[in-house]
Amino acid sequence: MMLRHMLRRIFPVGVLLYLLYIQYAYCYVVCKQNIYDSGWHSAGVGLIVGEAVLVALLLASWALMFVAGPGSLPVAVPPYNLNSYYANGQLYVRGELDEKSPSVVDDAALIAPPQMFLCNADGLPFWCAQCRSIKTLRAHHSSTLGRCIPRFDHYCLYIGTIVAQNNYVWFLCFVSCFELLFFYILVSTFAFSKAVLSYGRHQILHPAALLMIVVNELFTLLLLTLNMSIGHIFELNETSIDFLQLSRARQYRYTLGSRQSRLKNILFRRKITKEEARIGLVNSQRYVSVEHPDARNVRVVLPVPETVHPYDKGYLENALDWFRNRKFTTAQEIVAYEYEMLSPQFRSWVLQQVRAGEGQIFGSTPLTPVAV
Ligand SMILES: [Zn+2]
Repeated sequence: MMLRHMLRRIFPVGVLLYLLYIQYAYCYVVCKQNIYDSGWHSAGVGLIVGEAVLVALLLASWALMFVAGPGSLPVAVPPYNLNSYYANGQLYVRGELDEKSPSVVDDAALIAPPQMFLCNADGLPFWCAQCRSIKTLRAHHSSTLGRCIPRFDHYCLYIGTIVAQNNYVWFLCFVSCFELLFFYILVSTFAFSKAVLSYGRHQILHPAALLMIVVNELFTLLLLTLNMSIGHIFELNETSIDFLQLSRARQYRYTLGSRQSRLKNILFRRKITKEEARIGLVNSQRYVSVEHPDARNVRVVLPVPETVHPYDKGYLENALDWFRNRKFTTAQEIVAYEYEMLSPQFRSWVLQQVRAGEGQIFGSTPLTPVAV
C-alpha cells in the first residue's frame, strides 16, 4: 500500500522531470548549440517556439484533467423496485401468472427500473454500499477518492489521476500532445541532421540528444498501449475496465470449451478445474435484465457474450459521447438514460434472444455460485 502510494507520486514527478530534461536536450543542445550556432538562426528560434507551444498545450491539458476531475455520480439512485417482478417470475415458470398477479407497486423508497439494464448474475443492478446508490452511468467505485466515478476508464500512473467521463477529453489532448511532441522532436532532429551531428570532432549526436531520442522512443511504446485503450473505446465503446473483465470472461470460456487451454494453463499459470472455470465465467461475464416482451411484469436475465458490445453505437457516436456533458438532476433522469445508453442494435439483439427462449426468468434463477 505504501509502495503504491509512493509510486503514484513518483511517476508524475518523473514525467515532469523528463519534460525539463527535454528543454535542456532539445531546446539548448539541439536547437541552440547545434542548429542556431551553426548559422541556422531562424530555424533554431522557430523550432524552440514550436516546442514551447506543444509543451504549453501538454501542461495545460494535464492541469485541466485535474481541474475537471474524473467526476462523480450527480445524484444517488435508490434500489430498483423489482419485488413484484421477482414474485411474478416464480408464478410465470409455474404457469400461474394471471391478471391478478402482483403488478409493479409504487414504493417511495424504490425507483422503477429501466426496461433494460446491465445486471449481475442474479439479475440485480450493481449496488455501491459506500455511496448508497446503484452504480449508474457505468460507474466504478474508487477507494482512493471514496466515491463512484461515472465511466471509470483507468487510473493513469503517469498523469497521477483517474481517467473517466469528466476528464477524458483532456486525457485525449494530453496523449496527443505527448505524441506530437515526440514526433516533432524526432522529425526536426533528423531534418537538421547536418547541424545536429556535430558533437566534438566526430560527426555524432550529442549524448544528451541521443539519450532523449532513445527515451522518447521508449515512451512512444508505452503510449501505444494507451492508444490501444483509446481505440477500444472508439471502436467498441468498452473502457479499459470493461476490457479487462471481457478478457477474463473469455479466458474462462476458453478453458471450459477447449482442450488446448489445459496445456496453456499448465504452462503459464495454476491449472484451474472446469468447475472453477464455470464459476469464474458466471461471475465475470455480463448480464442484461430486460422486461419480458410478451409477459406482463416479468423480467428475463440474459448472459451477454464477450462478442456483443452493449454500448457500441458506431465509431463516431462512441467518440462523440466523450464530448457530451450531460447534466442530470433527478434519479429518474439517470434511470431513463441507463436505457438510452444501450445501443439500438443491442436492444433488438436482446429482445430477439428472449423471444428465442434464451436467458432465465428473473425469480427462477438459482443463486449465483461464488468461488471460495
Ligand atoms: Zn461508490
